[in-house]
This record gives sequence, structure tokens and C-alpha cells, in this order.
Amino acid sequence: MPATPTTAPTAHPAPPTGAAASRQHTLRERNLSLVASAVYEATTPPSRADVAAATGLTRATVSTLVDRLVAGGLLAELPPVVAQRAGRPAVPLQPARRTLVGLGLEVNVDYLGVRALDLVGDVVAERVVTGSLHDSDPGEVLARLRDLAAGAIAELEGAGMRVAGARLAMPGLVDARGARLEVAPNLGWSSVEPVPALDLRAGDGSPLDVEVANEAKLAALAELAGDVPSSFLYVSGDVGVGAGIVVDRQLFLGQRGWNGEIGHVVVDPAGPRCSCGATGCLEQYAGKEVLLRGAGLPASAPVEAVVDLLRAGDDAALATVERAGRALGSALATFVNLVDVSTIVLGGTYAELFGWVGHVVAGVVEERALAAPFAPVDVRPAAAGPHAALTGGAREVLRSVVADPAVWV
Ligand SMILES: [Zn+2]
Repeated sequence: MPATPTTAPTAHPAPPTGAAASRQHTLRERNLSLVASAVYEATTPPSRADVAAATGLTRATVSTLVDRLVAGGLLAELPPVVAQRAGRPAVPLQPARRTLVGLGLEVNVDYLGVRALDLVGDVVAERVVTGSLHDSDPGEVLARLRDLAAGAIAELEGAGMRVAGARLAMPGLVDARGARLEVAPNLGWSSVEPVPALDLRAGDGSPLDVEVANEAKLAALAELAGDVPSSFLYVSGDVGVGAGIVVDRQLFLGQRGWNGEIGHVVVDPAGPRCSCGATGCLEQYAGKEVLLRGAGLPASAPVEAVVDLLRAGDDAALATVERAGRALGSALATFVNLVDVSTIVLGGTYAELFGWVGHVVAGVVEERALAAPFAPVDVRPAAAGPHAALTGGAREVLRSVVADPAVWV
């Protein structure tokens, strides 16, 4: 082994400086994050002792860090629970209500939306405005979204809450840095950088941290709040059709974050022209406007109108939804054959139409996925409810708060 230069030992240990101080600082931050995560991710409110057991930190360290997180408004103490054995009653901990909030924003083809969630996951503000945004002007639409968000931020701050940041969901290709929308065919937008255009600010004028993400990917993350396996494929049905691939509770982003474009998987090369320029894409069989028109409704009608027709046994609506389900099923069977996934979550329009489309999709997947006889694929409706990308976006902001709570305490 080569000799390494040594320095003479000092008589008295000096307080850590430079790299050593920074290491200690980093360790403290990391422990703070460990404690915050242990409480945030627990299924039942844990006590300080439970957190110590889960993190491997000492009781004393956990107590100091919990006090800091409680004072900073990230955690709250619940009324003490008297222990069965002798000793002090345990104080269960949970994320704080209505203190720090994450903001989900969305521009989609037929609505704009804002939704704020607090650390326990409650919706504390929401604004959704519907109306067609086909071939819209990005500057004008983003200014409208800024007004919508500014109203929500003022309301939240007026109620004593702090906005930790925002995630903007968009129906198109967004780069992995979360800054640039390359293309959103159904909006008619390309090469847009929405964050400077939004220029979102807190009440005191300081800029808010905003990142952009694909709407299907954020909607997929919203499912993680519920009872879903750690790996699954999420399909978001709207005017466009997108997908989010979740592996071990993390999004799989591909090389540049541009994966999941299942709406442009070819169903029939001789099929109708798609907004992307190609022909016979899945969107032209299973996109929301195609479903509405097939059922004899205007493209601006709500999906509930299709549901009404399906309930009444309307032949055109039934045939259109069956055709959409078969197209979706064959695209998904290809996906299952390629990547081996056991759970498919149908969201957006497909969650609303699940009673008619779910078994069709499941049937085609079973028919076409080679491994289906050995590993049945569970096709289920999404649980996160309407405009799930807003919830997923808000949750992402809060996840980043919990991962680095030192900034907020
Ligand atoms: Zn296409």
C-alpha cells in the first residue's frame, strides 16, 4: 500500500471546520429527512420510539429532530395514547394539516386546473375551468393559469398556509429536467418553456419553484396514495392518451423523459390521420373526442353523457366503446409482452367508462399477452378520481419537501 501523508495530531480537538462541518451539517439534514419520511410514509401515526426503531437513530436524536419538525409546521403531535405497560404515554405523530401545501397545476386539452394538497393529503384549494384549448396560444393560456393559481395562492396564504412549490402537468413531451415542453399535439403547442411564462410568485413576491411534467406521469403518481402494487402501468385517457410507467414506486422516465406515448402506438396503419401527423394511432380509436363523436355526441360533451347512453343500451355508444377497448387492449398487450407488468391502471375517461371498457381491455390482453396464462394481468380502474395529475403534481411537491425538510424548518 502506498504511504499516505499524515498530519501531526493536535493537542486539543478543534471544532469541525470546512469539510468536516459540512459533513456534520449534511448528516443532520439527512437525519431530519429520515425522521420526516418515517412519519410521512407510516400507515398509522408512529410515536418517537417507533420512529427511532424504524430509522435506527437514537431516541434522543429523534426527539430533537421531531421537535424541530413540529416547530417548523411539518409534523403534528396527536393526543397521547396511554401505554399498556408502565411508562410515559406515547405521543403519536402525523404530518401537519394546513401548514405547508403543494400545488398541482394543469393545462389540458379541455380544462385548466389548480389543486393544493396539505401534508396529510387533504385538498385545501381547487379551481378547475373547462373549455377547449385546441390550437390555443401558450402565452394567453399560461396567463390564465397564472391568474387561477394566484387566486389559490392568495386564498391559501390568507388562511396561514405556505406554498412549497408547484408541478405543472402538460399533455405532451416534457424533458426530464422538467422545464421544457417539446410538443403537445392536441394543444398545438411546441417548444414552450412554461415556467418563465407562468412567473408564479408567493404573496411576498418571491418566485415559487415550478417544474413541468407530463400529465399521465403525474396522474400515475397520484395512484401511489392508494392501494396499488409498487410497479404498474397507468393509462390516462383524455383527448390524448398517455401512460406512466411506475417501477418500485418511482417513475420510469426512459432516456429523456419522453416515454409513455401510448396514444401514438399504431392500431391500424391504414387508419385515420392523427394530430401527431401519423395515421391509425390509438388516440384515433380510444381518445375522448373520438368516443364522444362515435356515440353521436359533440366533442365538447362530458364523458357522463356517454355513460348515460351506455346505460340506456345505445348501440352506437356501445360499439364505439367496444372498439376503443379492443384498440386499447391490443396496445396494452404489446406493452405487457415487451416489459412484463402485472397491473394496468385505467385512468381519466377510462376510469369513468370502466364498467364497459375494463373487461374488453382485460380480454384482449389475456388473448394477446404470451405470459397471461402464467401471470394474469390485473386491469383495474384508477382510484385517484378526476384530474388526477393535479393530485400527483401536488404530491410530488410535498415529496420533495419531506425529502429535504431542512429548507422549510
Ligand atoms: Zn398519433
